[in-house]
Amino acid sequence: MTIPQTDPLAGYIAHRSEIDLAMEQCLESGHYVLGPQVTEFERELGDYLGGGPAVGVASGTDALVLALRGTGVRPGDRVATVSHTSVATVVAVELVGAIPVLVDIDPATYTMDPARLEEVVSRSGPDRPLKAVLPVHLYGHPADMAEIGRIAREHELIVVEDCAQALGAQVVDRQVGSLGDAAAFSFYPTKNLGAIGDGGAVCGTSTVTDSVRTLRQYGWRERFVSERPGINSRLDELQAAILRVKLRYLDAENERRRAVAQMYDDALGTLPIRRPSTREGFTHVFHQYVIRVPERDRLLLHLKDAGVSTSVHYPVPIHLQPAYQGRAELGDQLDVTEAVCGEILSLPMYPEIRDTDVETVVAAIAGWTR
Ligand SMILES: *Cc1c(COP(=O)(O)O)cnc(C)c1O
Repeated sequence: MTIPQTDPLAGYIAHRSEIDLAMEQCLESGHYVLGPQVTEFERELGDYLGGGPAVGVASGTDALVLALRGTGVRPGDRVATVSHTSVATVVAVELVGAIPVLVDIDPATYTMDPARLEEVVSRSGPDRPLKAVLPVHLYGHPADMAEIGRIAREHELIVVEDCAQALGAQVVDRQVGSLGDAAAFSFYPTKNLGAIGDGGAVCGTSTVTDSVRTLRQYGWRERFVSERPGINSRLDELQAAILRVKLRYLDAENERRRAVAQMYDDALGTLPIRRPSTREGFTHVFHQYVIRVPERDRLLLHLKDAGVSTSVHYPVPIHLQPAYQGRAELGDQLDVTEAVCGEILSLPMYPEIRDTDVETVVAAIAGWTR
């Protein structure tokens, strides 16, 4: 018996009868792409985020692409983001034709360091200005949006939030996704709100969502009339129907993730291991529970032998990946990024994990340290 690091099957089984019913109704409706389920889901997600309807798209990567295009980022524009993230963040910037400019992270929360962003902005100068900033709410912890927002206002930067890992997280009483000009969400099966396939969404001002709504389907507002060059990035009805069921449980499941994190915190507190920290006033949704320990690879193998699966998010920063070496623009030294990637470890984390499994994980970690 191995304890998995994440468990999308358990996420289906937990809501099986409701999901099966929703799928059956959808199959019999004859609407399979951009129909009533998508429209309802867009409204429900928008309500959840405290704004107007979101726009359903085919993936989180597409959501980022369309959020960037919808806010006015154009080919050749420079977009500040991080190297310690899913490669999808940087892929999306390049798909727009824009240039990713990589900024270092804060070692406490693993999110963009605003002080470093400020240095990158001031070094950029008037001939090569930054156009936008794309912070990532990594592992479910919001980036420092107050500071990033202040810098963006001072320098007239567009702010697009990468919320793929953080649906439900808050800064004080505001949901992530409502803290910039636009935001992108992913419903990849392992995300906090996971589909049974691919999916994504964009939210933002009505100007942005209106633009994204046309861009996601050939630039159409009116059928067969392409107002501007668009793409095909539609959310299908089955995924929307499933997401509507699961959205109703999101807050409870995020609460369970926090309870699991608390159990890890309590048990690991006495060990020489760095635990995740939550900034004052922020609500963490623990997409991942990431510890930091110098002998990470040894601990990983020890846990594997003890039947505990772990993962590393992410083992190689983007600027050191074969595809991006010497290609992505380094706005910064990236010394924190390069230091953490060899020491971080993501423990098992999903809402359905049993307390006894959490106890097994911490016992295995304690056995190694001793
Ligand atoms: C998952 C993820 C994405 C991309 O989402 P897909 O749905 O896989 O395209 C983008 N950014 C981050 C931080 C992610 O974790």
